[in-house]
Amino acid sequence: MKRREFLTKAGMMVAAGAAAPLLESCKSSWILPAGAEIKAKESYACDLLVVGGGPSGVCAAVAAARLGAKVMLVDSGNCLGGMGTKGLVGPFMTCYDAKGENMIIRGLFEEVVDRLIEVGGAIHPSVIRQGTEFTAWISEGHDHCTPFDPELLKVVYDHMCREAGVKVLYNSVFASPVMKGDRIRGGIFLTPSGLERADARMVIDATGDGTVAFRAGVPCVFGDPANNRVQPASLFFRMNNVDTCRLIGEVVPHLPEFRRVNGVSYRCLHWRVAEAEAAGEWDLARKSVNIWRSVEKDQWVVNCTRIHGVDATDAENLSAAEEEGRRQVQELMHFFHKYVPGCERATLMGTGSVMGIRESRHVQGDFVLPVESLIEGVMYDDRILLSANSIDVHGAMGGPAGGLYMPIQKDKYSVPYRALLPSRVKGLLLAGRCISADSAAAGAIRVMPPAMAIGQAAGTAAALCLKAGIEPASLDYADLRDALLKGGACL
Ligand SMILES: Cc1cc2nc3c(=O)[nH]c(=O)nc-3n(C[C@H](O)[C@H](O)[C@H](O)COP(=O)(O)OP(=O)(O)OC[C@H]3O[C@@H](n4cnc5c(N)ncnc54)[C@H](O)[C@@H]3O)c2cc1C
Repeated sequence: MKRREFLTKAGMMVAAGAAAPLLESCKSSWILPAGAEIKAKESYACDLLVVGGGPSGVCAAVAAARLGAKVMLVDSGNCLGGMGTKGLVGPFMTCYDAKGENMIIRGLFEEVVDRLIEVGGAIHPSVIRQGTEFTAWISEGHDHCTPFDPELLKVVYDHMCREAGVKVLYNSVFASPVMKGDRIRGGIFLTPSGLERADARMVIDATGDGTVAFRAGVPCVFGDPANNRVQPASLFFRMNNVDTCRLIGEVVPHLPEFRRVNGVSYRCLHWRVAEAEAAGEWDLARKSVNIWRSVEKDQWVVNCTRIHGVDATDAENLSAAEEEGRRQVQELMHFFHKYVPGCERATLMGTGSVMGIRESRHVQGDFVLPVESLIEGVMYDDRILLSANSIDVHGAMGGPAGGLYMPIQKDKYSVPYRALLPSRVKGLLLAGRCISADSAAAGAIRVMPPAMAIGQAAGTAAALCLKAGIEPASLDYADLRDALLKGGACL
């Protein structure tokens, strides 16, 4: 995409002399249709409103409710889990340090994994090593992942929210913030009952796209403005009826040939992709296939579709991407049936009910987490989590070129509380993919284990602020640290 098109598409405003173009914050964000009535239900009044029920939103809601806050969690879909359930994305990326020795993301993430294991819905990360079928045989940055079943994950999240007393509202789309000056006091949602208002003393934006912050007037950047790109989107799908032994037998002898040349990965099944390409039956922007074994023996997860230049904040652009994703899935199913031993009878179990969006808006705070601090392993004074997930910006070079992969220099890095604080708006905290981070840093911490730890920290901070009657920016870090350690976090 040409630079001009990119900027126009993303709705960017390039301020003269500004270092990075900012998305114009949304001032008169939403106009009420004539005659429309907004209903304010008493039962929607809460201490904390969490918008977005993905991994970060669920953990934020549960953490805050366990500390005594009256919490309402609203999601546009029909289940909790975000990309991990509706998007069929998995496995959980690493929760270990870079040496693969210690589990460093624990707390609510570990509780989710343990609960999944109890119902046969996950395999513990301690026994999953990189370079195996559970990591698409990728041998870098994929140690100790956690395969899980997305249907059971939905149920685990339901149970955790119910037990904690979180009020969950599904099928309800956040449309506009309720503002009192520069303070957010709730949100207006389009629900099955019509337009409804939820009043809250504090709000957490866990929408992934930073929609709440953007519409409340917080400056945002789209993708990576410095390099004029956004990570490609991918529609995930799952297959069953795979002859797992034959598929493994097909791949393993080729492991010594796995390589990366000029940014292009030649990994799993690259030799079969070459055959299909030679026969004119492959037009995807990849040279190999990421296919992961799931919890059940004959079930596999495929992360191989690739759609460049998707703007998830633009309805038409996103709609076109959804269709293209399904087209690519059909092409891949044909490929598996015709070219891959063990997959001749594979069945498409389903595609994600939402497009997999790796990157969209990054909400801006006074502090923006720089990727250098992750590479150098900076231990921030106000750290809320540790992680070692690699800095992996997919499709960084366009076309079939692989990710911009930057190894970290220490065995872990930290994320500070200050990255959860948006500029300009009071009463608002950020959680998950949209926190104040540069594009490359977000490429590392957007995966689910850190997203859950960020959510836990946001919910914990909100509950402490509500109790003390203070702003998130005034919270004493010692109190937050104490509460996070009690909640099982590793700091
Ligand atoms: C293609 C792809 C592959 C990935 N692979 C992996 C992987 O293998 N392992 C891993 O650990 N991570 C992976 N990730 C990353 C990870 O899944 C996401 O970054 C992570 O889920 C982000 O969590 P979140 O809570 O910030 O947002 P999300 O999971 O996106 O959840 C946001 C929630 O907010 C809701 N929402 C959004 N807007 C509104 C609105 N206006 N009103 C109401 N609700 C709204 C959405 O419906 C959604 O449920 C992948 C991501 C993608 C896209």
